[in-house]
Amino acid sequence: MPGPIQVGQALEAAHAAQLDWGRWPLKERAKVLFNFRNILLRELDEISRLKSSESGKTFEEGRAGLLKGIEVLEFALSIQNLDLGGRQEISRGVSCEYRREPLGVVANITPFNFPAMVPMWTIPIALALGNAYVWKPSDKTPLTARKIGDALLEAGLPAGLLTILHGAGPTVEAIIDHPKVKAVGFVGSTKIAKLVYQRGTHLGKRVLALGGAKNHIVLLPDANSELSGKGISDSFTGCAGQRCMAASVLLAVGEVKTHMDRIVERASSLEFGKDMGAIITKAQVEFLREAIGRAEKAGAKVILDGRKAKPPAGMEGGNWLGPTILDNVQPGSEAAAVELFGPVLSVIRCKDLTEALDVAATSEYGNACSVFTSSGPLAERVAREATAGMVGINIGVPVPREPFSFGGTNASKFGHGDITGHHSLDFWSNIKKVTTKWEKQTDSTWMS
Ligand code: NAD
Repeated sequence: MPGPIQVGQALEAAHAAQLDWGRWPLKERAKVLFNFRNILLRELDEISRLKSSESGKTFEEGRAGLLKGIEVLEFALSIQNLDLGGRQEISRGVSCEYRREPLGVVANITPFNFPAMVPMWTIPIALALGNAYVWKPSDKTPLTARKIGDALLEAGLPAGLLTILHGAGPTVEAIIDHPKVKAVGFVGSTKIAKLVYQRGTHLGKRVLALGGAKNHIVLLPDANSELSGKGISDSFTGCAGQRCMAASVLLAVGEVKTHMDRIVERASSLEFGKDMGAIITKAQVEFLREAIGRAEKAGAKVILDGRKAKPPAGMEGGNWLGPTILDNVQPGSEAAAVELFGPVLSVIRCKDLTEALDVAATSEYGNACSVFTSSGPLAERVAREATAGMVGINIGVPVPREPFSFGGTNASKFGHGDITGHHSLDFWSNIKKVTTKWEKQTDSTWMS
């Protein structure tokens, strides 16, 4: 693990490299990123396998995450065509224009659960905008970073523009504190997001820190039972529930027995190791098993018990927990309010949509809220009243696709703007305003 002196040396080198890179025209920087895209596509399967082996994801999940990252890269490639700034003659002979300029050295700290996708939310955009990028990957999944770094070097990225620093808390602190680091992005748990946000902003830096989540799905009786059964089951079991957009609380409104049967049926049919991956650590499996036990003691009914699921043959040494559904969970209880980060769905029974929205609004978090219904007006009511930043209508994992940006509210995000899409551009750059007069003015106005 690098100490503060090594971190400092790496950041000084990044700063030196950025001085030149920042002067490259955007179109030239984009050429490197275009090569990067081709190399990632060529290496797609190999990187997906590596991600899967270090994080416990299935191969398909690893692949999907990298493809989503490549989509952000494609957005970054489009900046040269879409982000044209603006120029106007603001008075006779005088023009004013916007210029987007790099910040210098920027840093990003990423979590274990998406070893390629989450870093790829920011690497292409920050580099396209002319910054040097310092990346502290999760200490639990350090291998994928190397492959991404190699791909960028092969693509022609000059040395020093991508610096990968491994480590944990002390490395992150040394990065944030270094005067050459102008902006800090972070994605991880709310506890650490808040620490990173406070430390960075205390030093006067811009920080965008995405935290944890406890996502809600409202299930209405008029929903299509096949669509909702698959959508809800896949949302809480995908990536073994270790994603910040996973369904965690199901707000079951009125009579939804058929729908519940479909959810249980699909979740029970998943094959470990093939349809659903593993949990990141043994300690996390233990935490989840104990949390399920505590929910049971608090009165919840375990209608699908993942604690009984057998590990897949040949993979007994892994960290496994099957899909688990807790019914009759009480609002405010641990299973209803705390991010568990595993394949556990807490069902809260609600008499009507108003009650369901009230429960969702008590959440400390604000990443996602979805509704399954066949009613347009009811869906629109959820879209308007949900306090989360990303809403799904008949979608279990409402991750916006580029160019729509990704970001939640409340304790799921500290800082302003979003981490991808159009709303990320101002975070990774400065907007300079240039006012120009060349003509010799013959008249004079109040602003001459
Ligand atoms: P984590 O907070 O434990 O770690 C995230 C990063 O912070 C890692 O790189 C880690 O090494 C570093 N870190 C750990 N301790 C630190 C400290 N004291 N100071 C500074 N940095 C420190 O998160 P995780 O367990 O890797 O990931 C899971 C969490 O991330 C979940 O809460 C999940 O909801 C969240 N997440 C959020 C989003 C989102 O978009 N909001 C996306 C993915 C994951």
